[in-house]
Amino acid sequence: MQYKRILLKLSGEALMGDRQYGIDPKRLEEYAKEIKEVVEKGIQVAIVIGGGNIFRGVAGASNGMDRVQGDHMGMLATCINGLALQSALEDQDVHTRLQTALEIKEVAEPYIKRKAIRHLEKGRVVIFGAGTGNPYFTTDTAAVLRAIEINADAILKGTRVDGVYNADPEKDKNAVKFDSISFKDVITKGLKVMDMTAFTLSEENKLPIIIFDMNKVGNLMKLVSGEKIGTVVDV
Ligand code: UDP
Repeated sequence: MQYKRILLKLSGEALMGDRQYGIDPKRLEEYAKEIKEVVEKGIQVAIVIGGGNIFRGVAGASNGMDRVQGDHMGMLATCINGLALQSALEDQDVHTRLQTALEIKEVAEPYIKRKAIRHLEKGRVVIFGAGTGNPYFTTDTAAVLRAIEINADAILKGTRVDGVYNADPEKDKNAVKFDSISFKDVITKGLKVMDMTAFTLSEENKLPIIIFDMNKVGNLMKLVSGEKIGTVVDV
């Protein structure tokens, strides 16, 4: 296996499947099965989940809502997704813990790094909810932050595109995919992998980011087994 401990970042939108909003239980079940496979190989899996399928603070602010209020709603949305993912994983007999950056202690554990690591060592999947716990941040930043804190080998960002391209592959048919690219080249070429706060944090801490298509069955397993899937961003 290529990795011992991974941080998997799933966007909220990915949970929508073909829907326009909310959570598609079928998609959730597919993800849970993919995650179960890698856990059974002995890989420690931590997950940060987004909330964009339910609420985004920026969207609220553009409609006149207070940004901080909106971000609080966004963070709670990630907890809803976290609970849904936890339930789907437990349906597959995967042991899990949900830890949240904002305390909701009747529902989930508060985020405690040492506890999270202990759960991982015991083979439990740890889902981190409520992002960083602060407004004006994103779940990508939360993913990088948690990955560094728990000493993950890499951050695996599951998206609907299978890597980083020199142009938008959904708009430009001639777009070319990079198998690997340095942090520096991402910046000089003006490519977008994550928001700058998340990206810089990853670069400063030499944490590799792998962008891959999580919707293709078997990709997660291939990736952790060392197959060249997606794009690796590294020093
Ligand atoms: N959010 C926040 N602080 C964080 C992480 C998230 O305030 O540390 C809020 C923010 O409003 C964001 C929403 O939660 O729009 C959902 O997160 P994100 O947009 O990153 O989710 P994704 O795009 O991955 O679905």
